[in-house]
Amino acid sequence: MERNLILLGAPGAGKGTQAQRLAARFGIPQVSTGDMLRAARREGTPLGKKAEGFMNAGQLVPDEVVIGLVEERLGKADAKGGFILDGFPRTIPQAQALGAVLQKLGRAPLAVLDVQVPEATLLERLGGRLSCPKDGASYHVKFTPPKKPGLCDTCGSALQTRADDRPEAISQRFREYNDKTAPLVDYYTKTGLLRTVDGVGELEVVLGRIVRALEA
Ligand code: AMP
Repeated sequence: MERNLILLGAPGAGKGTQAQRLAARFGIPQVSTGDMLRAARREGTPLGKKAEGFMNAGQLVPDEVVIGLVEERLGKADAKGGFILDGFPRTIPQAQALGAVLQKLGRAPLAVLDVQVPEATLLERLGGRLSCPKDGASYHVKFTPPKKPGLCDTCGSALQTRADDRPEAISQRFREYNDKTAPLVDYYTKTGLLRTVDGVGELEVVLGRIVRALEA
């Protein structure tokens, strides 16, 4: 069965963490535009250089940049059986472009999951987040600490606070989310594709809710 999924939710809602687990469970790739942009920034590609200033400031990268990335990624062989989009679409034009791409590729309709978490919890999660600069793995000093303090479990690299997890950038990311991304909830409700999931609680509990919402 072809599973084409979108995880919607504010910064810190757990999209990346859950997308990673869903990808392993269903055997389909996680497509995270944030991870793709961070990789491009790390490698210093022209796209990475273009995106860097926006990302560090907590602003959205221009639509045409991310739309091109996603279009290319979804056309790859490993995405034929489905994919989990995490962090895309983030604007109405991105959602419209995605619809057009899927239609062009003759792909099944999407299931859209809105992972809901109150703002106070989001702030607490983003505040203690640590990320691996090498493989992008995400930890939290309190909720999901690495086995050895400050070091990535999988590759041993020193963990860092993402530039956009600094307080000034966090406020900007919330503004961007409220202005540009939150309208997608209405957009996908109208198309009948949206399912809502409570994102508060233990990681495995939230994962269970997502899987049940997909099966419902
Ligand atoms: P994330 O890891 O999803 O929180 O994304 C980190 C940053 O990458 C965002 O704050 C944006 O600057 C950029 N970004 C990721 N996905 C998108 C997108 N779909 N549209 C625009 N900018 C994005």
